[in-house]
Amino acid sequence: MSVSVDPIAVLREFVARVTPYDPDPGAVPVASVTVSAGSDTETVPITPHLARALAQALSAYRDPADRGSCAGCGGRRLDDNLHCVDCGRLHGILGEVISRQAARVREQAAEGRPGTVP
Ligand SMILES: [Zn+2]
Repeated sequence: MSVSVDPIAVLREFVARVTPYDPDPGAVPVASVTVSAGSDTETVPITPHLARALAQALSAYRDPADRGSCAGCGGRRLDDNLHCVDCGRLHGILGEVISRQAARVREQAAEGRPGTVP
């Protein structure tokens, strides 16, 4: 889905989509939002309906790069291969298999036995 990255246009489009469904369009605004980009500035009064819509839209947003958190260090930067950029741990089924095999090889090396292939 292609979305405009002009923050003022995004705000205007969102308000235009939500406003027709406001059950109380004359309600006293509970806040206002001002967005400035370059020399353009937009201030939007936030009605209770618009506040609920904004809250729902923002809480529903998931960043495309969000692949969860690392089970090893708790970091949030997992790459496309579920490899933790911070500590190097691999995730997913393949990552788990590789991690277990690496632990097995480390145990065998610590015991002075050569590695074996299961
Ligand atoms: Zn990590």
